[in-house]
Amino acid sequence: MAGSPSRLFDLAVIGGGVNGCGIARDAADRGAEIRTRCRVSRLARTDGEWRIEAGGETFRARAVVSATGPAVLKLLGLADQPAVNSMWLVRGSHIVVPKLFDHSFAYFFQLPDERILFAIPYERDFTLIGTTDVDHEGRLDEVTASAEEVAYLCEGASRFFTTPVTPADVVWTFSGVRPLIGDGSGRPEAATRGYTLEMSDENEGPALLSVFGGKLTTYRQLAQHAVDKLKERVPSIDSGGWTDRSALPGGDLPVGSAEVKIAELTARYPFLERNWADRLLHAYGTTAWTILGDAASLNDCGEHLGQGLTQCEVDYLMAQEWACSKDDILWRRTKLGLHMSSVETAHLSEYLKEKAIA
Ligand SMILES: Cc1cc2nc3c(=O)[nH]c(=O)nc-3n(C[C@H](O)[C@H](O)[C@H](O)COP(=O)(O)OP(=O)(O)OC[C@H]3O[C@@H](n4cnc5c(N)ncnc54)[C@H](O)[C@@H]3O)c2cc1C
Repeated sequence: MAGSPSRLFDLAVIGGGVNGCGIARDAADRGAEIRTRCRVSRLARTDGEWRIEAGGETFRARAVVSATGPAVLKLLGLADQPAVNSMWLVRGSHIVVPKLFDHSFAYFFQLPDERILFAIPYERDFTLIGTTDVDHEGRLDEVTASAEEVAYLCEGASRFFTTPVTPADVVWTFSGVRPLIGDGSGRPEAATRGYTLEMSDENEGPALLSVFGGKLTTYRQLAQHAVDKLKERVPSIDSGGWTDRSALPGGDLPVGSAEVKIAELTARYPFLERNWADRLLHAYGTTAWTILGDAASLNDCGEHLGQGLTQCEVDYLMAQEWACSKDDILWRRTKLGLHMSSVETAHLSEYLKEKAIA
């Protein structure tokens, strides 16, 4: 979003979570200004436009979209705007364990409480098991799996696999808070995972569109729907609806072409081991070629930081995908944290420190 206080933007989008990196990159390539780690602290209508205070700057916009997930009611509060929809905050947790089976298919099981449990091959050597549905109270920026959730997932998986899964097997957990639209049913698993767009009334001034709910799988349609609504209030926002014919950065490869592309990648860069090429292709698509550039040997990729992570990939993530911490690189973007030793992680931290100083 945003820019200098003097510039009036057509649209400011607040939010966009950890999964939005490719979308942010695409938006930046098309002229959007992106600010990360920039929390909006104030949102007010002044002189027929929005004034947005965030990260020590003030931005101006004709319209605002709040895509702040579970914080959407907070943003409405900041803008002094009443909410029509209510929200139900439900935490979902996942556990990762050493791999439980040796094939590439996923399992879906039904538990005695009628909830679904899945076990999915994950990051080559692991199995991902999820999820839970637990009312979430407390902070939204520190969401972790409770011991009860870990035990629930272990017990659930142990019903179906011959080797029992125990909390001691868990190598990593991750959790998020689902912003479900309140339906009063008391059954989070039955609540819709669909989305609702709530548009402020025209009489209140510049538009504020709040996104309630949603899924990654429906994000493009949601965004198109949002733009269709916004163009009624800010006609210059009309994009003509082109995103169904456009790939996100690196996604310009045919469905089912992974094996062919991995072979092309290893042919172009013979020093790449197969696992490394596989990871790069699945993480970056055709951008893998950009990351490796003219490298003719492993040495040309800069320092090897461990597990196939080299300086050229880290530099790309910092320059192009707003990475600034080891967690951004090892967990948010690559999941190499599952494979790296503490010595390798410390080595990456050192490298990042040097880069920040340089
Ligand atoms: C447990 C769980 C499992 C899921 N499983 C699936 C699945 O299997 N398939 C699927 O399609 N979808 C799934 N989803 C849904 C998917 O994660 C969401 O649809 C998606 O993350 C929504 O993206 P978003 O960028 O709109 O919002 P979010 O990812 O919620 O990000 C909101 C962002 O807004 C930021 N923010 C909040 N307040 C402010 C502020 N004041 N100023 C600036 N920024 C702010 C937050 O920091 C955050 O980065 C799951 C969600 C959860 C929680």
